[in-house]
Amino acid sequence: MFDIASDLLLAVDTNSLQVVAANQTALQSLSYSLDDITQLSITDIEASLQDVFYWDAVSTGIVQSIHHVEGQYRRADGQLIDVEKSIVPMPGHPRLLLICARDTSARQQTAQALEHYTSMLQATLEATADGILVTDTTGRIVNINHRFARMWQLGDDLLARQDDSEILDAMTEQVSQPDEYLARLVEITEDLHNESDDLIEFKDGRVFERHSMPQSIREHVVGRVFSFADITHRIQTEAALRVARDEAEQANRVKAEFLSQISHELRTPLNAIIGFSQMLADDLPATQRDTVQHITKAGWHLLELINEILDFAKLEAGKLSVTLESVDIQALINDCLMLIQPIAQRHRVTVHLEPSPAQLVRADPTRLKQMILNLLSNGCKYNRPHGKVTVQVTGNEKQTRIFIKDNGIGISETDLTKLFQAFTRVGKEQHKVEGTGIGLAFTQRLAQLMGGDVGVSSAEGVGSTFWIDLPTATQPTTPHLDNPPQAKSADHAHHTVLCVEDDRSSMLLLKSILQKHRPNLHLLTASSGLQALQQATAHTPDLLISDMNLPDMKGSEILAKLRTIPNLTTLPALALSADAQAGDISAGLAAGFNRYLTKPINFNSLVSEIDELLNKPNQ
Ligand code: ADP
Repeated sequence: MFDIASDLLLAVDTNSLQVVAANQTALQSLSYSLDDITQLSITDIEASLQDVFYWDAVSTGIVQSIHHVEGQYRRADGQLIDVEKSIVPMPGHPRLLLICARDTSARQQTAQALEHYTSMLQATLEATADGILVTDTTGRIVNINHRFARMWQLGDDLLARQDDSEILDAMTEQVSQPDEYLARLVEITEDLHNESDDLIEFKDGRVFERHSMPQSIREHVVGRVFSFADITHRIQTEAALRVARDEAEQANRVKAEFLSQISHELRTPLNAIIGFSQMLADDLPATQRDTVQHITKAGWHLLELINEILDFAKLEAGKLSVTLESVDIQALINDCLMLIQPIAQRHRVTVHLEPSPAQLVRADPTRLKQMILNLLSNGCKYNRPHGKVTVQVTGNEKQTRIFIKDNGIGISETDLTKLFQAFTRVGKEQHKVEGTGIGLAFTQRLAQLMGGDVGVSSAEGVGSTFWIDLPTATQPTTPHLDNPPQAKSADHAHHTVLCVEDDRSSMLLLKSILQKHRPNLHLLTASSGLQALQQATAHTPDLLISDMNLPDMKGSEILAKLRTIPNLTTLPALALSADAQAGDISAGLAAGFNRYLTKPINFNSLVSEIDELLNKPNQ
């Protein structure tokens, strides 16, 4: 019945219920000495209620044997231990009962721990965001969590029947490619050792991500754990994002095309305005020259506005790059002060540079000039009559700060927070003053591109101080020439130039410039690609100057065709176009043009490029 040595043995008197004997195991397990335990009644040791009833019955003479009953014993220190016991009359001693008990606490603890771990495991399965399916190596379902059942829409009735093939059918009929799904499942199940990853598409549009891993116990594969994640929302969001991105890219392309188109359309008439007014001014007496020069200046200003908007669009698209060099900041500011004079005079404001130490900064000189002019022009525009704008430069070997300070209308604290947002104009005066609201945003982003920044402090009614921070440069300044020196006259008596241009005023201007500055050149003109080919075949020109968009051909096509004519295979070519985007220029050069000048025409550049190409035709 029991392994006697390891069992607790107690002998109890049926009359007194007194413990009369105990073996060593009983004494040790219950922590009593023999003397002490024999002072006790068995009911002091046995703890459960049914034991009390049993011993009551015994004391009234009803003695029954019991076998393998669970109970609890109280030790000397009060702690309870679980036992499994049997009670039988002691052979040869009718008044004694023999209790034979086994301490089952350890076994009970193991069982409890097992139960605890099992429920922890199940709770963990239930607490995962994924649907979990566990199968054995043959593919039979071993376990699932509720989430799995919910995701796969498996009802309680179906699950209660525990019929694997019925469950598989219910799953398969939901997916959009049932045959493929089953084939893949077989494949995964048969492959005992590898992980798997796939997407499952459903007929109703849902998409699940399925990941599975072999399940091993002591390196022995016992099955596979599948986890399912519903990624429908993610897929839909990604698809929506893709559509939005495509639309944005399309919109960007349209915007870029629109900007390039606008730029082209504006540059052509500007070419005539600026070009002719410049020529006119040269021929007028000094008294009238001033008036005409206003037209020229307005033309250049308009061009600046166009360029500003185009530049900003490029900057926003991340397509604007800066060329950093060492710039003499004093010289550059002096240039700016000269350029700003007309605006300052118009607003009756004085602008001056405070004495500042000579300083070199690392910047793109053209862009920096643009930035300073922006701030200077704001200082004049948002000022009062007889107001002042002062420029000051401070700095150390690391950083240079250019202050542009005015005592104008100032900016309120709330407006200061919006100041650098593009197309944002602030303050009461904004409607009275011309502007686009991109100057400050552009200036700030340019400064950041150059490794610096822009800041401001202002008080309403008192004035504003803007500053540009830039890295200080140590290398010597490279001379920056804004206006290339006037080309020296050259003798072109034996040179013929073919000018191809369909816009009449542009052609007239080109002819006027060449007749005035290079009167010895022999000019041929054509207003279409076909005419150009005819002229070239008949007269073998030394240089082609061509617009890039003729009614019948592109400039590059004309050049390609001309260069197939014997004697013209190395014909030098200069593109003169209102297509002024960097991409247009590089495409023109790639098509074989030796030079590419943009409209409006800069006389000096045009003349010097012509001289160079005619004198060194292979450049
Ligand atoms: P714009 O001058 O074309 O409007 P900006 O981006 O240069 O664009 O300036 C944005 C706004 O900031 C202006 O509309 C004006 O309200 C305010 N602002 C800029 N500079 C000054 C200044 N020096 N004093 C007062 N307000 C200014």
